[in-house]
Amino acid sequence: MAYDVIVLGSGPGGYPAAIRASQLGFKVAIIEKESLGGVCLNWGCIPTKALLKSAQVYEYLKHSADYGIHSENVKHDFGAVIRRSRGVADKMSKGVQFLMKKNKIDVIMGYGKVAGKGRVEVTAADGSKQVVEGKYVIIATGARSRQLPSMPVDGKKIIGYREAMVLPQQPTSMIVVGSGAIGVEFADFYNSMGTKVTVVEFMPRIVPVEDEDISKELEKQFKKKGITILTGSEVTSVDTSGSGVKAKVKSAAGESVLEADILLSAVGIASNIENIGLEETGIKTDRGRVVVDKHGQTNVPGIYAIGDCAPGQALAHVAARKGSPPPSISATWKRNITTCPRGWITTTSPVALTAHRRLRPWVTPRRQPKRQATK
Ligand SMILES: Cc1cc2nc3c(=O)[nH]c(=O)nc-3n(C[C@H](O)[C@H](O)[C@H](O)COP(=O)(O)OP(=O)(O)OC[C@H]3O[C@@H](n4cnc5c(N)ncnc54)[C@H](O)[C@@H]3O)c2cc1C
Repeated sequence: MAYDVIVLGSGPGGYPAAIRASQLGFKVAIIEKESLGGVCLNWGCIPTKALLKSAQVYEYLKHSADYGIHSENVKHDFGAVIRRSRGVADKMSKGVQFLMKKNKIDVIMGYGKVAGKGRVEVTAADGSKQVVEGKYVIIATGARSRQLPSMPVDGKKIIGYREAMVLPQQPTSMIVVGSGAIGVEFADFYNSMGTKVTVVEFMPRIVPVEDEDISKELEKQFKKKGITILTGSEVTSVDTSGSGVKAKVKSAAGESVLEADILLSAVGIASNIENIGLEETGIKTDRGRVVVDKHGQTNVPGIYAIGDCAPGQALAHVAARKGSPPPSISATWKRNITTCPRGWITTTSPVALTAHRRLRPWVTPRRQPKRQATK
């Protein structure tokens, strides 16, 4: 079957683009190699917030007497907390499945590779191949954890965000390398659960992309909660030969060795732009992202790129907003690109979040502008 729009990747960039295209009367196929909903719903925004919600409930109960409520013997079940988070993610992914069906979008499970203009080759899990054809292709393949040679992720002692979300046992101690949104979310969660957490940040302050006052406030809150913070410090190597990890840390004061059960590498993300047919199709990339014009179109007409694999903030709402219009509806497309929201909130403990809202009252979700469907 020939489609009007083929979407490669079903994260918050891909699936809203597919829905919008279908709502506007286009025949749409979406290709996904793993789980519908992408990183955000399965391994990012949603499951981390579920973990943080459990942490918040636990913190409340531990301090319930402050609110005049007595709750004795408060305990947590780490396995149940993880299971709840996975359950929430699964439910959301099933929700996307339902939306695809409701909007008559064909879901093709498999690994997609652009095979020229209007063509995507899909390899299914059993190795069988098919070529899907369409007028427009939207690349929305997202991103993964960035890895540093000094901390190669082995999934057991040196872990990335995916493993941190499903650890079979709660570690007694954890080193979190990197204090961007992902690092501080996990630092906050594991600290609340009772793990001894040390955050190592290369830059002079934590959450370095935030304004300085936000970093200060969060550092204050974290220290109050018992999180150790080492800024201006770099992990140069990690020894995993013993029962835990020994991380060599270099800072202005000299070199030291940190010991913990486990180390979480949260040093950013890398876009999924390899092996998806970009080179073969002549699609340009720059600094690890697909190059697009102001309408999201690559240098190959009819092929677009959105979300974490394209330039811009790597955030779900940004991906969703840019992915909303199908490519040929230029008026809507333009409006969405230009009204793309810029605000964000680093979701850590409620205290830090409140502080952020107080300091940044203008960071509030914008309402979706009304769109007119024009072909
Ligand atoms: C731990 C964590 C917490 C986060 N929290 C937040 C948050 O609170 N708020 C926020 O705004 N953002 C958050 N983010 C970022 C957010 O998840 C991403 O910005 C968002 O998911 C990007 O959407 P996307 O559609 O570009 O890509 P993704 O969500 O990465 O989806 C891409 C999809 O494409 C599929 N895919 C890739 N290659 C292929 C291929 N060749 N063939 C078929 N399918 C393919 C992948 O399997 C995936 O399902 C978080 C990220 C992480 C890791």
